[in-house]
Amino acid sequence: MKNYLSSFNHGLPSVRFAGIREPLRHRRIRTGIAPASLLFSLFLLSLLFLMLPCSSVYGKEEATSQTGFFLDTVITITLYGDEDGSAMDGCFDLLEEYEQMLSRTVEGSDVWKINHSDGEPTEVNEETVSLIETALQYSELSDGAFDITITPLVELWDVENKALLAASEAEADTNESENSNEAGDSDQSEDTDESADSAQPEGSSLIPSSEEIEEALSHINYQNVLVNGTTVTLSDPKAEIDLGGIAKGYIADRLEEYLLSCNIESALINLGGNVQTVGTKPDGSVWKIGIQEPFGGSYDIIAVIECSGESVVTSGTYERYFEVDGKIYHHILDPKTGYPTDNGLTSVTILADSSTQCDALSTTCFVLGLEEGLELIESLDQVEALFITEDETMYRTSGFPE
Ligand code: ADP
Ligand code: MG
Repeated sequence: MKNYLSSFNHGLPSVRFAGIREPLRHRRIRTGIAPASLLFSLFLLSLLFLMLPCSSVYGKEEATSQTGFFLDTVITITLYGDEDGSAMDGCFDLLEEYEQMLSRTVEGSDVWKINHSDGEPTEVNEETVSLIETALQYSELSDGAFDITITPLVELWDVENKALLAASEAEADTNESENSNEAGDSDQSEDTDESADSAQPEGSSLIPSSEEIEEALSHINYQNVLVNGTTVTLSDPKAEIDLGGIAKGYIADRLEEYLLSCNIESALINLGGNVQTVGTKPDGSVWKIGIQEPFGGSYDIIAVIECSGESVVTSGTYERYFEVDGKIYHHILDPKTGYPTDNGLTSVTILADSSTQCDALSTTCFVLGLEEGLELIESLDQVEALFITEDETMYRTSGFPE
């Protein structure tokens, strides 16, 4: 279980990224990789500590918590009543299994095989097929706003790596300027900052050309994904799929199912901000899930949702992005324009029983925008949503808790 970090700790990347956002505020190219989801994990953990002020025992049930890193995401699972630790082990085994099956970047995964098939039919697991079929339904529902053939654009924009690169450069900058400050020479420190600025990649080089975007767009069309039994064929050999907008939700549902089969009736699953509650708290009261203010700190909670078995999933611009000349380029891409979705939204939160549905709909509604997104959610039974716009106005569907 190579990936696991353990136990009521503070997942390694959170330390790295959470601390670098502030010094970057004044920079021309600013970045942040998933600070919200990472900080959200910490927030949930701290909630847990608040619930368990002196010990890790809630009522009669002992709480155990474990954090790991899968699918480029910090994952935290908290279980009550897992006395021998076997349910936790089972959860992390499942996470590993699904990463090996559904990750685009893991060589030999089902998605990797489909993407390297050069248009030939590819035999994959039943679960992969079923998830692809579900994803295609959201494409139909949204007229292609949600589209798993988004990969050429994901690779072209490469938001995650650009954000990481800028983050590590900024970190190096900060260290350098701290060292200069320690030497007590403030003029020198300013000089160092300037020279570091000029070493930054030019903002415009981070943005793909319109020709590159056109070329990528020409391979994006969910109708190119053909499913027959357990065989998947991409009718455009240059098409590639990416399940990043739905896989975490699917995995959260499978983890919930598994925990219930282990008779764990009280648990909290947090896959980088995709939260799945299992049952209620051990004393029978509801879970309270905080929705973080976009671009706020981890404790800037703007809404609290009470859950018992439901899932709450947020898609937002502040999760993975880089910034050039004050404009944010994030990871939720619009298959119509080829650019990061730019419609005035900063986040969409979906509340429903199924985490797969929440995950797919949060991405879908983000791309659709406020009006169409609200309309779509109102047309669905037992799904609610909260939209937040750049001016920090909140729009709730009729059944979303106040
Ligand atoms: P996160 O995975 O960060 O929680 P989302 O669930 O909104 O956020 O999914 C964003 C991911 O989905 C991107 O990183 C990319 O892999 C993929 N993606 C981006 N744009 C789209 C889109 N229009 N349709 C389907 N998937 C998308
Ligand atoms: Mg999603």
